[in-house]
Amino acid sequence: QKAEWHKLASQRTVTANDAHVELGANIGNPEDLDGVLANGAEAIGLYRTEFLYMGRDQMPTEDEQFEAYKKVLEAMGDKPVVIRTLDIGGDKELPYLEMPEELNPFLGFRAIRLCLENQDIFRIQLRALLRASVYGNLKIMFPMVATLDELREAKAILAEEKDKLQKAAIDVSETIEVGMMVEIPSTAVLADRFAKEVDFFSIGTNDLIQYTLAADRMNERVAYLYQPYHPAILRLVNMVIQAAHKEGKWVGMCGEMAGDPIAIPLLLGLGLDEFSMSASSILPARSQIKGLTTTETKAIAEHALYLDTANDVEAYVKEQLK
Ligand code: PEP
Ligand code: MG
Repeated sequence: QKAEWHKLASQRTVTANDAHVELGANIGNPEDLDGVLANGAEAIGLYRTEFLYMGRDQMPTEDEQFEAYKKVLEAMGDKPVVIRTLDIGGDKELPYLEMPEELNPFLGFRAIRLCLENQDIFRIQLRALLRASVYGNLKIMFPMVATLDELREAKAILAEEKDKLQKAAIDVSETIEVGMMVEIPSTAVLADRFAKEVDFFSIGTNDLIQYTLAADRMNERVAYLYQPYHPAILRLVNMVIQAAHKEGKWVGMCGEMAGDPIAIPLLLGLGLDEFSMSASSILPARSQIKGLTTTETKAIAEHALYLDTANDVEAYVKEQLK
């Protein structure tokens, strides 16, 4: 098995009927690149930039950020690199940023909410990203978007910073795609509208599951409700993919679910274009996908959408995979 995986490291990810899907890696910092390259990732589907800001006593400067982004972009060459803007708050805190104590941090002041209010922080990051964009195939992604207003405001700020850099004769790529995470149910439900205003979606199931089932992802007491295979989750994922494809946009998934062998046939069947996971899951996933066809997974997914419970879905997929 190890030998087969090793061979797969240099191959594209294709199904048994030769349909291509992209397998990307999730990273937290440039040191993760070795694992990404060794495991033959076709992209970086999620670079969680908050780690650049954590474990230190002051904000990273624009230049520090620029160097980190450039390093990742250069290492990946022309392969896509999706860099997510700062997703702090919730369970992640910064010692140098005063944050009010909140009763429900996961429903509170985090990610894009914090960035739109503290625009100085946001603009520094966007400038670093824009400057780094000429070194590779950059895609910028906004986390925790709940409303079209937030998306529009974030895009407008990005456009302003781009304009300023260009007026200062600093090179910026003209082909940067701009997308958003779908991790709040409101955006999945309204995906048809969001799809008109982004280049891509990436579904963040870690949060989408907790918000859809109202089960805190850190709370053991309600862990039994944290159900990736819940038909409600599958239907939301389906809606997002359908809406995006109607507008000619692509959809990835960067939550844990994307690397799960039970979920993979379902996601493939629903038409997911890109799967982003921890680097160590890439070769097993590529090997699994090689044995699946588009037609059979489509039938599996369509059936699963109409089952009653997560347990039913899991049992059904296992039976079909036998
Ligand atoms: C997610 O919510 O699925 C996700 C990928 O983001 P994070 O785990 O960083 O919240
Ligand atoms: Mg998230």
